[in-house]
Amino acid sequence: MKENLVWDSLIHDVSLLPLPHRAHFIEKGWLAIRGPEILALGEGDPPPHPAKKRINGTGCVAMPGLINAHLHAPMALFRGLADDLPLKTWLEKHIFPAEEKWVNGEFVYWGTLLACAEMLRSGTTTFCDGYFFEDQAARAALQSGMRGLLAQGILDFPTPDSPSPHESIKRIKSFIRDYSGSDLIKPAIFAHTVYTCSPPLLQECRSLADRYGVPLITHLSETRSEVQEVMKKYGRRPLDHLENIGLLSSPLIACHCVWLTEEEMDLLARREVRVVHNPESNMKLASGVAPVPDLLARGVAVGLGTDGCVSNNNLDLFQEMDSAAKLHKVHRLDPTVMPSQTVLEMATLGGARVLGMEKEIGSLEAGKKADVIVLELNRPHLQPVYNLVSHLVYSATGADVRDVIIDGKPVMENRKLLTLDEEEILGKAGEWGRKIRPISDCRFRIAD
Ligand SMILES: [Zn+2]
Repeated sequence: MKENLVWDSLIHDVSLLPLPHRAHFIEKGWLAIRGPEILALGEGDPPPHPAKKRINGTGCVAMPGLINAHLHAPMALFRGLADDLPLKTWLEKHIFPAEEKWVNGEFVYWGTLLACAEMLRSGTTTFCDGYFFEDQAARAALQSGMRGLLAQGILDFPTPDSPSPHESIKRIKSFIRDYSGSDLIKPAIFAHTVYTCSPPLLQECRSLADRYGVPLITHLSETRSEVQEVMKKYGRRPLDHLENIGLLSSPLIACHCVWLTEEEMDLLARREVRVVHNPESNMKLASGVAPVPDLLARGVAVGLGTDGCVSNNNLDLFQEMDSAAKLHKVHRLDPTVMPSQTVLEMATLGGARVLGMEKEIGSLEAGKKADVIVLELNRPHLQPVYNLVSHLVYSATGADVRDVIIDGKPVMENRKLLTLDEEEILGKAGEWGRKIRPISDCRFRIAD
């Protein structure tokens, strides 16, 4: 510790959970921040040292900011547009047409701001996004102060931001070039799925990702019908197909991975494919239950994601953790699977591993980035505390988060967002909502 320099922030008289395990819980401690990093943390009273900002954590716990490892942030503006429908009808009759009609740069910008406001207010400090007009998502993310792995999307057919895959490739290249030096935003490539991206397109994405040293992200084996469709088209299951065309030659971030055989799980582990589990989206779309306990047993890196707001319908990772733990217990008829600390690890260190950021984030350790959230514990649903990790997974919600610090900078204090104009964002969300579905179309809409 460099004693001669003033600390930027000191959180004192706070409980600490630096790592996602109850053995690491510190009932009363302190955490010092200088610049973007955690300088030191410890038990008891802090050493006497000048700090520009002192945050009193009495009655609170400070823990690592949560990591949402898969979503489509701008789709926050489509929240609740269509629910409780068969997947094909939902996608083809509602979501795709709405995207075709409404998605443009402004939509992505305001949708991402709305998503960032929601994520900050529920304790998420890093998110991994995949969508179109990703430069506008990056603009919004930077404004919010959030950390992000942002991936420009590509498919075989025209998308809202590109008339052809060729144009999408150009967009990917310029996006990567523009954000390669950014501290908070890391660029990536989002190849939608194996059934919407041809083998040559996927191979081009693979070589671009390798050339620029950025992650490649895709949806994989989300539904049974996807597996059937890929089998019919290529004579192989989706993962086998990716292996066959050389896509697994370097690490891939695969979202969902619901329909896997034992051999595929072995292959995922061997190829060090990183997996994102999205339990609420999988439940809501009745896609199935991903074999997460089996993947974890094989040492596969698994993070937790919400997926987009159209299939969830919120971005609260505390709720997602609760669902993740309970889904696997009921599915296996075994209350011992997916214990709370495993789930909390997925939402912190696991997510960091998936995004390739485990050296920077995911836990509170000296030298790591200061991405810290402070939760109020003096609340009826969080007392008494026998095991804090259990409370975080089974009792807490995003609304219990009081303060958020990202990269050493306070972005929410006493539940007030410091980087974003929440009133303006909510006003714009309302405007988009009225445009997308005029009030005359909605019998039960509350007029505002
Ligand atoms: Zn998705």
